[in-house]
Amino acid sequence: MIRQPSDVPRGRALAEAAARVIPGGVNSATRYIGEPYAFASASGAYLTDLDGNDYLDYHAAFGAILLGHNVESVNRAIRDAVGGLDLSGLGVTELEVALAERICSIIPSAESMIATVSGSEATAQAIRLARAATGRRKIIKFQGGFHGWHDPVARNVISTPELAYGLDPLSAGILPEALEATLIAEFNDLGSVKALLGEHDGEVAGIILEPIPHNVGALLPTDEFVQGLRELCTATGTVLIFDEVITGFRHALGGYQQLCGVTPDLTTFGKGMANGYPVGGLAGRRDLMEHFNGRGGDVLLAGTFNGNPLGCVAALATLDHLAEHPDFYTRTRDFGDQLRAGLTRVVGDLGLPAHAAGFGGVFNLYFTPERPTGYRELLDNDHQAYVDFHRAMINRGVLMLPLSLKRNHVSGAHTQADIDQTLEAAESALTELAK
Ligand code: PLP
Repeated sequence: MIRQPSDVPRGRALAEAAARVIPGGVNSATRYIGEPYAFASASGAYLTDLDGNDYLDYHAAFGAILLGHNVESVNRAIRDAVGGLDLSGLGVTELEVALAERICSIIPSAESMIATVSGSEATAQAIRLARAATGRRKIIKFQGGFHGWHDPVARNVISTPELAYGLDPLSAGILPEALEATLIAEFNDLGSVKALLGEHDGEVAGIILEPIPHNVGALLPTDEFVQGLRELCTATGTVLIFDEVITGFRHALGGYQQLCGVTPDLTTFGKGMANGYPVGGLAGRRDLMEHFNGRGGDVLLAGTFNGNPLGCVAALATLDHLAEHPDFYTRTRDFGDQLRAGLTRVVGDLGLPAHAAGFGGVFNLYFTPERPTGYRELLDNDHQAYVDFHRAMINRGVLMLPLSLKRNHVSGAHTQADIDQTLEAAESALTELAK
């Protein structure tokens, strides 16, 4: 079935109403892609729009939907919690302790944990903590890495090559001092990190990275790179921060750090941690985390909604579900492998300059002449080809991320039939594009 834009009259009307009262008509910039999207309900692997069209969902709310939409055990936990303690604002709840205990038991780097409401808050706190603990000003992030919307990480984020330099920093209104204190290295290039540490000797507080930079698809880290970062940080007293907002719980219960065997000093979480409910977290070495201790620590931890009961129950139910269904990991990896293999076959048959990539249940299609292994090759990505592919897939009822170089997510709800349907749609879409 090939859809036409006229199939969404109610979505179009709502988008027009939104534009009158919400700047740009959306509450987060990347939700606007020039099309009137308005979703009304969700179930399992599917989203349904206001006009009643169903979409097989690999966007998964940028990866926040980990298990699938409306998972019964998470919904039940939320329903059971409503009517109990809504929010107190004093002391601590059993739920907060249970969540911190759980994180400390499953995440290798976690000796204690703070709960936030979003991933951006977690990464902002991690950077502030690294500065406080070391007494140093600068941080290193990697070209293309995205860690949220706050000032120190608003540099060198790319979602398309056109934006790589055109929209850098990500926003107006940021003090130049905040940006200048952020140094940019290249992923998988230990030499670029060593050079910065040498040039700014004794000034670098922390290094923050997505261990797999899923914000540029899926560049896979080499073992030497992650191990080398660990060694460099240990040798120079620099705080190593793994931003596992996407990779955490998605690739392994213990995060990517469990898979690569490198233990960072601090780890940030968000997105899939509570399967669509707003929860983030920062965990790490006890001596570092003690800076947040209100009795004697020097870093302010504040947030009215931090550790709120609904977020905690959603996170605990999500982590319970993952612990009780270890096949989540084998299944999503198998489906991811099938999608990568199927896409590789189709682009090969059609002779398209494209490369299926990804890790576990995360997959994407780079429209590059060579398979990217680092940031430089990403700049050759044919943005328009991806956008056309994305459009052609939506017309076939498959929703992927609209941004080239990002990624798509297999959730716990996708079935073999969904994967088969996706590959059929991709073959038809790419054949159309190859003409
Ligand atoms: N870190 C990474 C790796 C992300 O991908 C994101 C969001 O996309 C964030 C941090 C920020 O999380 P949030 O949008 O919950 O503030």
